[in-house]
Amino acid sequence: MEVLLVSIIAFIIICVIVYLFDKNKEKLIEKFEIEKKEIMRCPVCFKEYDDLKLKECSNCESYLDKTTKYILPDKLKKQIISIIFIIIIIAIVVIGGYYGISKYIEEKERLEKYDNDISTCYDLIKNKSDYEEFSNIIEKHKNEENFEEDAYKHFYIAVDERIENIKNGSEDKELVDMLHDIKSSKLDDDEIKNKIDEKYLLAKSYSNLNSANKYIESQNYKSAFDLLQEIINSNKNKNQEIVNIATNKQNEIKDKAFEQIINEAQTQINNQDYSSAQKSLQNYKDLGNQTILDMYNNVTNEVNRIEVERKAKEAEEERKRKQAEIDAKKDKIIVDTDGKRIYKVYMASNKFSITGNFKGNGHFSVKLLDDNQDFYDLLVNEIGDYVVNTSTDVVKGNYYYLQIECTRGTWNLSWSGTYGS
Ligand SMILES: [Zn+2]
Repeated sequence: MEVLLVSIIAFIIICVIVYLFDKNKEKLIEKFEIEKKEIMRCPVCFKEYDDLKLKECSNCESYLDKTTKYILPDKLKKQIISIIFIIIIIAIVVIGGYYGISKYIEEKERLEKYDNDISTCYDLIKNKSDYEEFSNIIEKHKNEENFEEDAYKHFYIAVDERIENIKNGSEDKELVDMLHDIKSSKLDDDEIKNKIDEKYLLAKSYSNLNSANKYIESQNYKSAFDLLQEIINSNKNKNQEIVNIATNKQNEIKDKAFEQIINEAQTQINNQDYSSAQKSLQNYKDLGNQTILDMYNNVTNEVNRIEVERKAKEAEEERKRKQAEIDAKKDKIIVDTDGKRIYKVYMASNKFSITGNFKGNGHFSVKLLDDNQDFYDLLVNEIGDYVVNTSTDVVKGNYYYLQIECTRGTWNLSWSGTYGS
């Protein structure tokens, strides 16, 4: 745009100069003592001839034109060359200067924006916990080599300042949450990731220390002890300072915490909730308190004893259940009146066989009914003494009814194919 503007202005100036020259031609010729001379000139190869009578170019044989030639004095030529030279120098200086100044302004603006955005980055982390906007700003500066590193440097400063406040007893859940969220998101840069992990652990641990102090204030020594243990475990070989603070604090409240642990377990034991008592004591049994260890061993024995009893009871119940299942399948007399007896039987085989005899002079019949008590098969139907020896196909696993009827006489039967009596 600027180049176009400059070109247009230059073109206009040149046109004006040419116009002025043309208009004042005669005056200029006189003023600068320019000599005029008539010559012949070839319009094709521009060769010039002093001889005005010549018609043809000796070079290319074209027809020559007659024209006026202006011969400048040497002094004027030198002046013109000097002026052109000066104009060129001025033009270079002007263009160069313009370019340099605009570059300088551009760089100055870039640096201002850089500094502004870096301090915005710091502010976003320090006061707003807005990591998303922080990342957006970095994204806008991704072409600037140092910006991201610089922004994170300020990120760490802001976080450290907030951790310092937590260390002094302030709550800062927002910081812990923000670091946790960043930690859980996908970070490409391992160095940043490690650093965030480190900061998160510090923020979280100092927050937990504050919480442990609150537990101690409210005399909840067991919870304080547990939380301190968590702090010690997670900071082992990482932050010796925190480990030392937590260990000292734990030692201070140890006896009171053990007392609460023992009381809690005792209540559970009194309620015969041995497995809860076992769980309550488990984490503390190796911390050198004999009472806790003894209690733990006792409840463990109790839990094991109960478990053995439970298993024995379960086995006994299972045995009973199986027996009941078998008993349910055994032959059962369901009707037994004068002259009529019905057995409910459960088939253990696909063949039902029956043998025996009937003594007397009355009617004797043996029928098999299906599980709906509908007629299935007639096995015996006789009058007078009879020897029974017959069988029929049945469906294994189904219930049947064996119906035996007689008038005047006695019978003696036995059968196979059912679960028996
Ligand atoms: Zn010519």
